[in-house]
Amino acid sequence: MSDRLADMRHIRFLLYEIFDVESLTQYEHFADHSKETFEMALETGYKLAREVFWPAYQPFDREGIHFKDGHVTTPAGMKEIWKQCKEGGWFAPGADYDYGGQQFPHLLTATTSYLFNCANTSAYMYVGSAAGAALLIEKYGTDEQKAEYLEKLYSGTWGGTMCLTEPQAGSSLGDITTTAVPENGHFKIRGVKRFISSGDHDLAENIVHPVLAKLPGAPPGVKGISLFLVPKYRLDGTYNDVATAGVEHKLGLRAQATATLNFGEKDDCHGWLLGAENRGLECMFALMNGARIHTGIQAVAGASAAYQCALQYTQERLQGRSVSSKDPSAEQAAIIKHPDVRRMLLHQKAFVEGNLSLLLFTAKLSDIRHASTDEAEQQRAHLLLEILTPIAKAHCSDGAFESIRLALQCYGGAGFCEEFPVAQMLRDNKVYSIYEGTNGIQAMDLLGRKVPMNGGEALRALIQEISETIDAARKLEPLKEMAQSVEDIQNTVAEVTMHLGAIGMSGDREMYICNASDYLDMFSAMVIGWQHLQMATAAQKALDAGSDDKDFYTGVVKTASYYCRRSIPKALAIATILKSNERTALDYEEAWF
Ligand SMILES: Cc1cc2nc3c(=O)[nH]c(=O)nc-3n(C[C@H](O)[C@H](O)[C@H](O)COP(=O)(O)OP(=O)(O)OC[C@H]3O[C@@H](n4cnc5c(N)ncnc54)[C@H](O)[C@@H]3O)c2cc1C
Repeated sequence: MSDRLADMRHIRFLLYEIFDVESLTQYEHFADHSKETFEMALETGYKLAREVFWPAYQPFDREGIHFKDGHVTTPAGMKEIWKQCKEGGWFAPGADYDYGGQQFPHLLTATTSYLFNCANTSAYMYVGSAAGAALLIEKYGTDEQKAEYLEKLYSGTWGGTMCLTEPQAGSSLGDITTTAVPENGHFKIRGVKRFISSGDHDLAENIVHPVLAKLPGAPPGVKGISLFLVPKYRLDGTYNDVATAGVEHKLGLRAQATATLNFGEKDDCHGWLLGAENRGLECMFALMNGARIHTGIQAVAGASAAYQCALQYTQERLQGRSVSSKDPSAEQAAIIKHPDVRRMLLHQKAFVEGNLSLLLFTAKLSDIRHASTDEAEQQRAHLLLEILTPIAKAHCSDGAFESIRLALQCYGGAGFCEEFPVAQMLRDNKVYSIYEGTNGIQAMDLLGRKVPMNGGEALRALIQEISETIDAARKLEPLKEMAQSVEDIQNTVAEVTMHLGAIGMSGDREMYICNASDYLDMFSAMVIGWQHLQMATAAQKALDAGSDDKDFYTGVVKTASYYCRRSIPKALAIATILKSNERTALDYEEAWF
């Protein structure tokens, strides 16, 4: 088991040299912060991740959660983690001072969240879920609701969830049947929610459930959904008829209580409206977009931990000899010497670094959107966030699973055994392509909504950002080929978008959407290639300036070059398929399956 979960040198490179986290202190909201406070958060966060979350990673998986007589008990040690997060202020590092938070920029809290997720996502989800519920109240609650709930959620006194899914309504939330009937200043809630993360536990005095439900006579579909605040215990301490019907037995994240909750079994569950009537999904999406990016963080964090484990293992495990050595009595080589193992390691490194860069970029965009007073700057950040969210969710999660598959492969037979942590990492990671909107739904969101949105406004903003990076890289001789490669994929994405757009305009909607997942894969190569090019430019400049940290910066440039030479050509091949009007899946009759 590696004691290194993430490359902190690379993380600091991203924070300070690429995204200039210190520049965010120009905004009044973050003005109290400085490199010193950022470093303190990084140091203490990584220490907590490595020394508290990480040692519990495998034991929690083996023990799982316990469900008896309608109550959930978390694995031994989870209460101590919760307590340490409370004491360290890790429930609300980004929340406003008014609610007991520390007003750190999201760029910083996304990084610390990444570190906790590198160590133990099942455990960290309990902590993060409370902040998610709080965010909704902060945004849509009345002053009274804010006063009643926020401090308790942000301090870890209470836990929180997000209740959307029902047995018959997962991807299609318009079909929810949970009802909310007005009664004496509150609403009576009745219905079943399924797969609710941190849905029940023994860590907090109360659990606050934001619940999607329908009012009597509400319009059908998503336009008739409202959002309600439903605590497990009412503010006067009485039980609010929220019963845990069971917990799932899952492939991964086994220390997480993924619960089925029955609201109003005894017809005595009270809820309070959050935001406007029939605008519930819109409100929930304020949280969901952030949650989708956070899913990318969970996924890439898992890939980072797996890569660090694989890297250490391949340096220690001896097997075979160099392909160029003909002497069978020569000493065995560490497997990292073998070309195919190096290929697998480099794929993982390029994945983790490129995708973490994208995720931290989205975190910075959300800081700008939140804190800037310049309307044009805010709007630009908003557009970029909109178009990058499906990539941050879907590409990061699909790619992380593939990256961990390679980490496991580096271990050979040992990787298949639960004694080593990579098998669990692979199991844990699978869900990220499923929850927060499956990756199929993300692809449809990108091609069907985000790309054509406002006549392609978000795509144009993105292309402009990428072009600026290409121009800057071209000025550096060693990066010319790389810059050309990113320009090639950028031009190809534009071409394919026009091609598919014409199909969409012709009215063949099924054919258009049938290409969405491949389109997202191709599009992602442009985005990640751009992130690598940006990192390579900063690294090359540091090398040209005679930096002492040659190995680090050369590694960044070479990793970018690997990505441009190995991954972008594959995306160009996808473009060929997308332009070929291939439609077998549509024409294939059900009887032929
Ligand atoms: C561990 C775990 C934790 C979760 N936590 C929460 C939580 O905290 N709160 C919560 O509310 N939910 C939670 N979920 C639920 C999760 O969000 C849903 O499982 C997910 O949205 C998919 O819904 P579904 O399972 O009903 O699958 P379905 O919607 O039945 O989808 C099955 C397949 O069909 C595809 N599909 C469905 N509709 C379409 C379409 N229109 N076009 C193309 N393809 C389509 C999907 O992409 C998928 O591949 C969690 C799930 C898991 C497994």
